[in-house]
Amino acid sequence: MKKALITGVAGQDGAYMTRLLLDKGYVVYGTHRQGGTTDFWRLSELGLHDHPDFHRREHDLSDLTACIGLIAEIMPDEIYNLASLSFAGSSFGQAGASTQINGIGAFNLLEAIRQVNPGIRFYQASTSEMFGKARSFPQNEDTPFCPRNPYGVAKLYAHWMTVNYREQHDIFAVSGIAFNHESPLRGPEFVTRKITNGCARIALGDAEALLLGNLDAKRDWGCAQEYVECMWRMLQADVPDTFVLASNRMETVRGFAHRAFEAVGIALAFRGEAANESAAIDAIVPDSLAAASGLRTGQTVIRVSPDFYRPAEEVPLIGDPGKAGKKLDWHPRTSLDDLCRSMVAADVRRNQQRIPA
Ligand code: GDP
Repeated sequence: MKKALITGVAGQDGAYMTRLLLDKGYVVYGTHRQGGTTDFWRLSELGLHDHPDFHRREHDLSDLTACIGLIAEIMPDEIYNLASLSFAGSSFGQAGASTQINGIGAFNLLEAIRQVNPGIRFYQASTSEMFGKARSFPQNEDTPFCPRNPYGVAKLYAHWMTVNYREQHDIFAVSGIAFNHESPLRGPEFVTRKITNGCARIALGDAEALLLGNLDAKRDWGCAQEYVECMWRMLQADVPDTFVLASNRMETVRGFAHRAFEAVGIALAFRGEAANESAAIDAIVPDSLAAASGLRTGQTVIRVSPDFYRPAEEVPLIGDPGKAGKKLDWHPRTSLDDLCRSMVAADVRRNQQRIPA
């Protein structure tokens, strides 16, 4: 039986990676932050909480001695470093913590591998935020980096450390530069989940309207379950490398909202511009959830609030996953419609069962 260590097991990717590896017969050790989340709702939702081959540990990634101790004790075959303070929007207020967890944390794991057992394979969760103010698109493995927030800066340090340990110490260390990836387990602070949860609440008659920031912001939104599978493929390859994980499609926040509301039977009509833009119910599909809740056309369901504005990207972040396609035979297949529908369905169910977002 292979053993894997996953850091950040309470997060979206950590939970899906745990399920993937348990399904493949691994014994999984998952770490979470000391004093961090004690809420393992994602693992519970996937029914993994009490799995006999799953073991949870509290662990401080910023402590090298603790990393050495943990790895020496578990002796994993593979390590997936998925722990991160992952909300770029708030990383300016948490620059120190972001550096420790997102940057130094990866170095500590790599150094522990070098000292304890250089044969351990290591996956580093890098991010499209490292491209930041990109000069060209779509971005690929050769696109120059230009991070624009402390999260991206710390992740870039971790990425280069991964490459350096690969090249200098001959460690099988890979870096996956993942673009935004979403799922029903996405954190509610991210815009997709904010929209699907808000839309579910509106469709159930539990909320009037949703407040969003820039509706023109564009993202490359992929499917988290598929990205996690690619991470695993990267560690099974013959040679360690760096790969972009992306869907190569681009959608606006407005477009994602359209799809989410459509999933509950609401057609939206947008009017106005910038901070004065809003969306109202234009039509309701008979026999839909929205119809069953007695919603009426004309109700304003999206308003824009400058409170949620961010500095706009000049060049959009959209990834080219061609290298992963060629070398790992990885091809993302889930459509944005299906992804969005699965998120809305999960949020409708949670709201009906009064499970907090
Ligand atoms: P990010 O790519 O890590 O920043 O992921 P987010 O899901 O937080 O944001 C994606 C994009 O949605 C950004 O360009 C935001 O400016 C935009 N956006 C628009 N309205 C909102 C909102 O209400 N909340 C968040 N989080 N983002 C929003």
